[in-house]
Amino acid sequence: KLIADGLFGRIASRLYSSTDCTIGIARLEDKVALITGGASGLGKATAAEFVKHGAKVVIADTNAKLGPQISQNLGPAAHFVQCDVTSEDHIAEAVNITVARYGKLDIMCNNAGISGSPFPPSVADLDLDEFDRVMRINVRGMIAGIKHAARVMIPACSGSILCTASVSGVMGGLGPHPYTISKFAIPGMVKSVASELCGHGVRINCISPSPIPTPLVVEQFAQFFPNATRDEIIEIVNKLGVLKGAKCEDIDVARASLYLASDEAKFVTGHNLVVDGGFTSFKNLEF
Ligand code: NAD
Repeated sequence: KLIADGLFGRIASRLYSSTDCTIGIARLEDKVALITGGASGLGKATAAEFVKHGAKVVIADTNAKLGPQISQNLGPAAHFVQCDVTSEDHIAEAVNITVARYGKLDIMCNNAGISGSPFPPSVADLDLDEFDRVMRINVRGMIAGIKHAARVMIPACSGSILCTASVSGVMGGLGPHPYTISKFAIPGMVKSVASELCGHGVRINCISPSPIPTPLVVEQFAQFFPNATRDEIIEIVNKLGVLKGAKCEDIDVARASLYLASDEAKFVTGHNLVVDGGFTSFKNLEF
């Protein structure tokens, strides 16, 4: 009976029970993750999914009001660090805090991003200061996260790096030029870095979601529909899902991240996982 109880305890510790009462295997047991932009939207959903699957999670975000609340709601497995990804020092510090607190860094989610200012009528009127601002967060912030994660992961000969790209980095015309250009840069960054890091046992992949009504997307769509209420914009975004019976939700991105972060994806690197319900395959896309 003792052996059976011990065995049951060990099996039970590897299972999780989610709010919808399904039982599953904890796929990130003993893993430590750092998630930039984890105080809202996709990063927040990913942090919750990772904790549900047994990971310790550090949320690194500029939002010093929401960040601690999100971390507290996730319980002792989560911790908040105030971090602006435009500062290399902040990122280095977030990585150091993660390693000091939990002993290692297995998963780096470079997710923080902004949509930038409204569309100018033409590229001929592009504000290059605005272009620099978007690039600083969406591209430089990501490569800085990759750099400092690599400093820990290369010596450990292990790790999984994720970057949040977008369908705006798969087809043009979906967002302002700076945003689109920044998102096209990410799969290239991933390919380039993967070619080096595969020699060190470290994987790097990106995820390209279609629009999901997070604060970022609601703000972006408000540029197309200036007179629409927030609820009306959410409805418009939800109708963009082209896969019959499905709409893109933050949990879809969180689960894609879960797969790429976990050992189940141990042979997957340099990949851009498009999570769009057919959005980029659909020929007659119209808002
Ligand atoms: P969001 O606005 O809900 O969350 C973004 C988070 O990033 C916020 O908590 C914000 O405080 C944080 N952040 C912003 N600038 C930062 C900085 N300089 N340093 C640290 N944190 C910063 O947006 P979201 O929709 O969850 O977007 C997350 C990522 O997903 C972005 O890279 C975005 O481009 C990408 N994305 C979103 C969608 C979508 O439909 N929501 C689709 C494709 C890609």
